[in-house]
Parts: sequence; C-alpha cells; structure tokens
Amino acid sequence: MRITVLSGGVGGARFTRGLLALLRERLPDGAGGTTAQVTVVANTGDDLWLHGVRVCPDLDTLMYTLGGAVHEQQGWGRRDESRRVSDDLAAYGLGWEWFTLGDLDLATHLARTELLLSGVPLSAVTARLAERWQPGVTLLPMSDDEVETHVETVDGRMMHFEEWWVLHRAGVPARRFVQVGLDGSTAGPGVLDALAGADVVVVPPSNPVVSVGTILAVPGVRDALRATAAPVVGVSPVIGGAPVRGMADACLAAIDVATAAHAVARHYGRRADGGVLDAWLVDDADADAVAPLRAEGWTVEAAPTLMTDVPATAAIAARALALVDRLP
Ligand code: GDP
Ligand code: CA
Repeated sequence: MRITVLSGGVGGARFTRGLLALLRERLPDGAGGTTAQVTVVANTGDDLWLHGVRVCPDLDTLMYTLGGAVHEQQGWGRRDESRRVSDDLAAYGLGWEWFTLGDLDLATHLARTELLLSGVPLSAVTARLAERWQPGVTLLPMSDDEVETHVETVDGRMMHFEEWWVLHRAGVPARRFVQVGLDGSTAGPGVLDALAGADVVVVPPSNPVVSVGTILAVPGVRDALRATAAPVVGVSPVIGGAPVRGMADACLAAIDVATAAHAVARHYGRRADGGVLDAWLVDDADADAVAPLRAEGWTVEAAPTLMTDVPATAAIAARALALVDRLP
C-alpha cells in the first residue's frame, strides 16, 4: 500500500499523523510501524530567507508533528521552546521583527542553511533532517528550486506570503498570488514518481490555494496527478463555511472561490471533468453539499472532520480511504 499526500503545514501534518495511526493499526509491521509506505509531498512556497537563514514552515511543521516534537496547541514550531536568541537580538534593535523564531527551531534553520549553502539540494537536506525526527513517512519538498509565494494586495503592494499572513494576518485583501520562481522550476526528486506509483493519493485538509494550489502549480505535478492510475481523494479544509484555523477564506476570496466545502470541491474539480480529484469528504456540517455534488458525478460523503486528536483524525483518514471503494 503506497499512499501519497500533498500537504501544507498544520492541516496536512495533523491529517498525516492520523493517517499513520490508522495504518499502524490496520497494516502493522510487527515493530510498532506500518507496512504501508506514505510519501508526503510538501508545499515549499511558504519558504523564505530571513536574516540569513532558510525557513521552510510547512516542511518543519510536518517534521515536528510526525516526529512528536510539535508545539501541540500552536500547531507549528517546537514544544518546550524558548526565545532567548530572538530576545537578545531585539536588545540590539535587530532581529526578526514579525516572524517568531524559537531557539530550538532556529537550530533546524541553521542546520538546513549550512547544508544548503554547501550545495546540498533541499530534498537531500530534508532527508538528512528527517533522519533525526523519524517522521514515519518519506518527506519530499515539492521542488528543490526556490519557489516562493508572494501576494499582491488590493492596494498594489507585493510581499512574501508569510509577511501577508503573519505580519498582516491576511487583513489586507489579496488581489492575487504569484509564485516567484515557478517558471523553470521542476518537481523535486521522487515527487512525480510518488504520484505515478501510488495506490492512493490523498489531498488532506490543507489550504487549497497557497498549500495544495502551489504544489499543483509546479510544472508536471498537476499532469502527474491527472495521469496517475491511483484514485485521488480529498478532505475539505472548510467546515460550515469557514476555515477551521487560520485565514484560508482570505486566500479563497482572492481567487474568487467561496469559502464552502462544495466550492472548494468544484475548484479542485473532478478528474473526469479535467480536475484533480475523484472523491471528496466533507464535514457533517456540510451534509447539504453531498446531494448537489453527487448530482454532478462526485463520489462524496459527509463525516466528522474536526481533527481534535489523533484517534479522531485516524477516523477521518479511514473515512477518506473508504471513499476509494465507492468510486464507480
Ligand atoms: P498551513 O500551511 O499551516 O496553513 O496548513 P495547511 O495548508 O496544511 O492547512 C490549513 C488548512 O487546514 C486550513 O485552511 C484549515 O481550514 C484546515 N484545517 C485545520 N484544522 C482542520 C480540521 O480539524 N479539520 C478540517 N477539515 N480542516 C482543518
Ligand atoms: Ca503553510
């Protein structure tokens, strides 16, 4: 059983943690793991250079969450974290003005940056960092090339996505997202094979615009998803007309997609109609989206999809995988 997940940060990481719990139960390897092989293709469009270090927010959220080191309430960053370096830099009137870099997290960025600057590609750097955290999945950056999501705001400013998201809390409406470096970029090693060779591909409840949308925009990825023999199942990141955490509605608004489970499904589209999905899991709160989507040919079910803890998330993963058996 080979499962490939296209993931952003918190939503994708939490889903994958539940998926792994399910697989360890259903397909145990006898040593506490699973015989299933899970590959996670991570969005790197949120990556940025900040005061000399390369920060990869979604890769790190995946690594810490699956490696058991994440700050659980926050959803990202390390638990038992401190800010001594940040605070001391501030005493010089320097440092990270709006982006929080904890001391332990900073070690990850420094290690990554050292390897990158010595010529190691991001995919190999990620594999090296993952040796320590043992995430239980093969963690692949969508590309080894620097592809960064920038935001053009309605007042005409251009800024890095993280500046818009973290500093401005997505409060200035976005006119469009631009993936700087996308043209000429290629999918990272293993990414297209992970799609072509999968038994199931899952699009977890990640941001459809700046997480999954960015992965799909890497040349070759959308085509590989459209061409794979594997069924492609998605889980709605929108519950009852709102993103569960974060401000994904501000991203959807910028591309004229309503913040609604059915609208996100139609945005992704059915593979039979030129889109990227075969099936879609919505929350029970959006059960009224099921009938109209079924009338359009979708394989769709409603289930509880709040990832409150690992067992609840494993149950969501089970419901998503069960959709495969319902495909025509
Ligand atoms: P980010 O990179 O940290 O923003 O994380 P992702 O892109 O992977 O996921 C963000 C999305 O996850 C948001 O749009 C949320 O709506 C969605 N999300 C977060 N928690 C949950 C949850 O418990 N259930 C569902 N269905 N979606 C969630
Ligand atoms: Ca992200």
